Amino acid sequence: MPLYDSHKRLIDYLRISVTDRCNLSCFYCKPRAGMKTLRHRDILSYEEILRLVALAVPLGITRVRVTGGEPLVRRGIVDFIASLNTLKGIEDISITTNGVLLEEMADGLLKAGKPRLNVSLDSLDPNKFRVITGSDNYERVWRGINRAEELGFFPIKLNMVPVRGMNDVEVADFARLTLGRKLHVRFIEYMPIGADDRWHRDACVPASEIQAVIEREVGPLKPFRSGNSAGPSDNYQLPDALGVIGFISPITRHFCESCRRLRLTADGKIRPCLLSDTEIDVKSPMRSGCDDAELERLFRLALEIKPDRHYINESGHGCFQRTMSRIGG
Ligand code: SAM
Repeated sequence: MPLYDSHKRLIDYLRISVTDRCNLSCFYCKPRAGMKTLRHRDILSYEEILRLVALAVPLGITRVRVTGGEPLVRRGIVDFIASLNTLKGIEDISITTNGVLLEEMADGLLKAGKPRLNVSLDSLDPNKFRVITGSDNYERVWRGINRAEELGFFPIKLNMVPVRGMNDVEVADFARLTLGRKLHVRFIEYMPIGADDRWHRDACVPASEIQAVIEREVGPLKPFRSGNSAGPSDNYQLPDALGVIGFISPITRHFCESCRRLRLTADGKIRPCLLSDTEIDVKSPMRSGCDDAELERLFRLALEIKPDRHYINESGHGCFQRTMSRIGG
């Protein structure tokens, strides 16, 4: 039976974090106080993740996104993608990556089933890339994108998070990338997640502002619709462009009413909403030998408690409401 949450939203999309580790240190991801990494035994094994996904398919999950941390740093990730591909009922597999290891892994990913690729890239200036990510991998990321394009991965989406005073002056250059290449550039509003101790509202550049800059500096944007327009992105195209420009505005135009996703954290918790800390532990019950019926009950519980929307715009100090609850089996 399809999964509906208590607000009658069809849930068909599972975002799986396979690791908390990353080979970059992006300023918006790493809290000032630093991050503790999980021990290997505390993260779900691939077998455990596959068990959960196989169980979620009859409940209506048809699309999965593999993310992290940085998913490509986890050993065995290509074989894991291949295994996901063999699960009946999974119609769409995608990976969100920083692209650092893409050049060397693109061939393997092609053989593993050619997942859709989202590559995060926040600057087209190697020096600024270094400031944002704490690494010198700018050229390497582009070699990865180019290799994936050569191998026929399509669409390749570039995710850019404009932060005021840091890289917001580059939005027109990012938009121009779509003129000569079939890239799908997506601007994502800066959210109070990850290093939320650094976030402040003024640093978030509203999608409407980015759109106005692009229209002024590059050209008019006309709405672009494709067969697969179920996602949170509002898509447009510049005249005669090969690629697409998308705006994802979780802050200024939240799309919670059409949110179709659940998240599975690397340490085995189902998170009904990215912008709330409420989560349901599925690792402990699995490791204590629970049966599939119990895991299904926990999936359904996650839907019951999926909030109708996020409340980051209402909270007093400009950061989002934390609902630090853990719900066990
Ligand atoms: N390491 C992978 C990568 O870089 O794509 C996957 C994990 S990363 C956290 C996933 C995406 O979240 C990236 O596109 C990143 O830009 C975005 N992201 C991280 N922190 C964000 C924030 N505070 N606001 C908006 N997007 C954010």
